Amino acid sequence: MQAFRLNNQTDLRFGPLKEADLKAAVSQFGDRVLFVYGGHSIKASGLYDRVIKALSGLHVTELPGIAPNPKIDSVRAGQKLAKANNIQVILAVGGGSVIDASKVIGEAANYDGDPWDIVRDSELGKNTPQLPIVDVVTLAATGTEMNINAVISNPETKQKLGARSSRTPAVSFMDPTLTFTVPARQTAAGAMDIFSHLCEQYFDREPDNDATKGMIEGLLRSVIKWAPVAIKHPDSLPARQNLMWTATAALNGEMGAGNRNGWSCHPMEHELSAYYDITHGVGLGILTPRWMHYVLTTDPTTTALFARFGRNVWHLTDAEDEDLAGHAIAKTLAWITSLGFGMTLPEVGIPDDKNFAPMAQAAAKRLGNAYLPLDEAAVTAIYQASMTPGLA
Ligand code: NAP
Ligand code: FE
Repeated sequence: MQAFRLNNQTDLRFGPLKEADLKAAVSQFGDRVLFVYGGHSIKASGLYDRVIKALSGLHVTELPGIAPNPKIDSVRAGQKLAKANNIQVILAVGGGSVIDASKVIGEAANYDGDPWDIVRDSELGKNTPQLPIVDVVTLAATGTEMNINAVISNPETKQKLGARSSRTPAVSFMDPTLTFTVPARQTAAGAMDIFSHLCEQYFDREPDNDATKGMIEGLLRSVIKWAPVAIKHPDSLPARQNLMWTATAALNGEMGAGNRNGWSCHPMEHELSAYYDITHGVGLGILTPRWMHYVLTTDPTTTALFARFGRNVWHLTDAEDEDLAGHAIAKTLAWITSLGFGMTLPEVGIPDDKNFAPMAQAAAKRLGNAYLPLDEAAVTAIYQASMTPGLA
């Protein structure tokens, strides 16, 4: 195993959200609050009113309208507001997009240049002090509530980049009942993001990290079991509870501990979102089975790990590793298809391959340390395979 440091200081509060607890968590850092949220969902659900009530007596500045795949312009707007109002703490209420934008706003508040610098240069982000972040999670997907990552898009440069902060959010409130209102398609996309985070860390070049792999297998079984329940029964408490905790545990650092951590599908997906602004989890759902098929058919030494995945995650019992491996990929494709979003790029608004060359070039730069290192030709082949149904 590789050496690692795990120093996660998020104060996680899982269970029914209480207004008094929210106020105490925010006000421990000061009374000048930037309240960041997305579109209409928190107003429609009544959560907005609850938050405003909880913050009574504090100086609240609002930044609404953070879009999915948060754009750098929202971060710039937040930087201005934070500076102009001497903000002491950020309260992010929403999904990964709201929380990610808030993390970079928290750094930009202490930075005199353009926030895009912080996104482009991870070292700058890690070294820029961040305002404390308190968040209320409304969607189970990214794990951002307990990690240092923030993914921001720049439509002008057609880039979607992952920034790294110096620390994880200070306090994260996780009330699974707040996710009852997440629509089926978004629930599915969130579940797929969780599944992908787990696969990215399971299919790692570190050979003997058995402790972490075993934990990942348990979390994979959880998301596989509960996502279909939450899609069918949006107000199933056990489904929403399990998805929410699985999302956090999948990407709070523990499942990558001891790994080499070269990811595969996320760098390829970020190019799809950067060029076409598609939903992150949907892009991952389309790419993941094609990536698995490409890896297994290109490098037979990967058979053993795909076979283990088949045995321990999908409960398969084939006698031969070759059968287990192929069968596991077929089960993965079938599960993702059952989540109900489109399974080809044309179905989600990517009609042709005209941007594949620059997308593959950008993605390949980040795939040298992947489970199977991928060059431009390999990425292009995976994008091409994603144009038509099934596995090529
Ligand atoms: P999201 O982009 O934050 O939200 C997606 C949609 O769900 C929005 O339209 C939002 O509506 C709606 N929504 C959120 N909560 C809801 C609720 N309780 N009820 C009804 N609708 C609700 O989704 P996400 O999957 O959490 O975040 C995706 C972003 O995170 C992508 O940019 C992705 O690349 C990034 N990401 C980050 C990490 C990380 O570690 N930081 C990891 C993976 C992915 P409103 O706008 O109206 O609220
Ligand atoms: Fe993700």
